[in-house]
Amino acid sequence: MTFATTYDDTNIFARILRGEIPCDRVMENDHVLAFRDIRPQAPVHILVIPKGRYRDAADFGANASAAEIEAFWRAVSQIAGAHGLTDRGFRIIANAGADGGQEVPHFHVHILGGKSLGAMVGK
Ligand code: AMP
Repeated sequence: MTFATTYDDTNIFARILRGEIPCDRVMENDHVLAFRDIRPQAPVHILVIPKGRYRDAADFGANASAAEIEAFWRAVSQIAGAHGLTDRGFRIIANAGADGGQEVPHFHVHILGGKSLGAMVGK
């Protein structure tokens, strides 16, 4: 799979942001939307996405505004707390590009928790 260097407005998270398809929303503000992953890999599996058009973590870190970046990471922290993950721990994953196994080319992090998550990277 190859990845475009420009943002693809047809990706599924762009369609969710436009309200064209539903999501199981857990929080939303001016800059951020969070919703449950449709194929959960853990008891808690939430996706956090910026509302801006960023392809991946590198694009977001390089081009998002300070307000967007702050809102994003504060939302991640808030969601982890609200779902009872901060005592036992949790994992944040941001896949990027082909080697990272990114399926949806709109920047997002996975928040995973609610069980022991095992090794960080499979063989
Ligand atoms: P990634 O491989 O990091 O791009 O992960 C994309 C994630 O999006 C996968 O875990 C999918 O299960 C999830 N996903 C795809 N479509 C939807 C959808 N319509 N609603 C919620 N999660 C989705």
